[in-house]
Amino acid sequence: MAKHSIRILRTTALALALCGTAFAAPVTTEGTGVGKHGDVTVAVTFDGGKITAIDVKSSLENPILAKGVFTDMKDAMVRYNSADVDVVAGATLSSEALRTAVKAAAEKAGVALSGPVVVAKRTPKIPEKNIYDVVVVGSGGAGFSAAITAHDAGASVVILEKMPTVGGNSLISGAEMAAAGSWVQQKLGIKDSVEQHFQDTMKGGDNLGDPAVVRTMVEGALPAALWCRDEIGVEFVEDNLFHFGGHSVKRSLIPKGATGSEFISKFMAAAEKRNIPIVTGMKAEELLRDADGRVTGVRAVMDGKDYVFEARRGTVLATGGFAANVDMRTKANPFYGAGFKTTNMPGAQGDGIVMAEKIGAAVANMDQIQTYPMCDPVSGAIELIDDARFEGAILINQEGRRFVEELERRDVMSKAILAQTGQYCYALFNQKVEDRAHAVQNHQDEVAVFSRTGILYKGETLKDVADHFKIPLDALEDTVKKVSSYAKTGKDLDFNYRGKFEDLTTGPYWIYRGVPSVHHTMGGLKINPKAQVLDSNGKPIEGLWAAGEVTGVTHGSNRLGSNAYADIIVFGRIAGEEAAKAVAK
Ligand code: ADP
Repeated sequence: MAKHSIRILRTTALALALCGTAFAAPVTTEGTGVGKHGDVTVAVTFDGGKITAIDVKSSLENPILAKGVFTDMKDAMVRYNSADVDVVAGATLSSEALRTAVKAAAEKAGVALSGPVVVAKRTPKIPEKNIYDVVVVGSGGAGFSAAITAHDAGASVVILEKMPTVGGNSLISGAEMAAAGSWVQQKLGIKDSVEQHFQDTMKGGDNLGDPAVVRTMVEGALPAALWCRDEIGVEFVEDNLFHFGGHSVKRSLIPKGATGSEFISKFMAAAEKRNIPIVTGMKAEELLRDADGRVTGVRAVMDGKDYVFEARRGTVLATGGFAANVDMRTKANPFYGAGFKTTNMPGAQGDGIVMAEKIGAAVANMDQIQTYPMCDPVSGAIELIDDARFEGAILINQEGRRFVEELERRDVMSKAILAQTGQYCYALFNQKVEDRAHAVQNHQDEVAVFSRTGILYKGETLKDVADHFKIPLDALEDTVKKVSSYAKTGKDLDFNYRGKFEDLTTGPYWIYRGVPSVHHTMGGLKINPKAQVLDSNGKPIEGLWAAGEVTGVTHGSNRLGSNAYADIIVFGRIAGEEAAKAVAK
């Protein structure tokens, strides 16, 4: 009897399945997966038990880093009727989110997908030897600026990028850009001067920067910002600026969305328009030289195979810093070794410094390593929501007390945080601060992730937030009362906050925990104001230019917030211009 009933059930199931295959109309179901920055929701259409379309309904994933997930990977899922296709390198969490979302949708639709599929990797056809006027290594802000400028000066150019995606740290940065005398400063009635920017930068770096290089940066900052706006199409916030620590006035332009995506997506479009090839997955490993010692290009490696990129006019190193290289950090300054996480992309390994040192380039300030004060204790990533600090968010310790000026230099703040209970602190702000800072509004992705991991909490009252993080309420109330009175008088009697405080007595409140994480390596190659790489005698190495974080004479002991974007664009443009006009060999 038992045997008989099983047979009947099987027959019924088979009949239903056949019926489904032959007659069911297309069905669309939704599924959700959790990505790096929050939920990814897709609507998947199935017809005859197969995926026919995947529509991404919502995603907060980085549009540049995760591009391959929502194009190639998504297409492969449809082609192979499987959610288990290869993940996109460099976007594992976003890839996993898409997999989970599509599987959930399939489950809802009662569709069984095919199993894991290995999609054959398409290695692009690149000749072993390639010749250009200018070879740019690295596709961050410095690399793009150099390549586009060199192209516009008439040179043939290639960009080599070792990672699967472009943008480096420039992409994940907040990307504010310091420029004295900008159109936004004029609109806001803020008086500023290039000389003041120079003084702030030198002082902020304890006078360890090279004055001639610093002067070139501050003088070039506004023209560079105008180039970004007018030539590249970068959109800036027109009615506000940031006031980063160490700058005597508000002078930092804010790109739309307050992240590097705005710059890098516009740079990509500009490079595409000019047909500048960008070879990703290609790692430069060695600088090549002729018999006279002139740099003639690079040897690079892709998938274990060597390629030569010859540069008739010049090679530009725009490889970024070494914050993600724990060994190199430890060697440069043991204090910043394995005990710290980093805000950086994994590509920041100091390759350009190592390659150039091998051919006699001089370095400077290698021991000067910067931590960003407020970073995610879980991943080490910078907390972009911390923009609120520029508009009146206060830093408090576990005891509920302020302990440092919130607009202090990053090194001073980081040291102060490390001296607090647990070596962390909290930032607290309310709706009034948010109305000015738009930190929550701009960084919804972080809000989603940090709320999930528990490092960010939104509460209606001070008691709510104090209870959540076990901060003594009486101390917190006292701190808030004091700050709110300073907001009225305009004078912070405790730490002399240089910005504008807000009345913090009413909610709702946001509070998040932060720790210092290695953010910027100030040291690197010595360059002159023409972005030429110098040898140990201070003489330019023929054929070699460098720009951006790979260089080491701009920021001294401490880079001021938003001076990195000024640095990378100013010197990227100079390097591109100079390399393009060098006499071709
Ligand atoms: P910057 O801000 O100075 O432009 P970024 O960190 O934004 O620096 O960009 C540097 C880029 O250079 C990163 O995308 C990184 O992956 C890339 N890079 C680093 N080393 C190499 C290398 N050896 N070959 C090719 N690309 C590299």
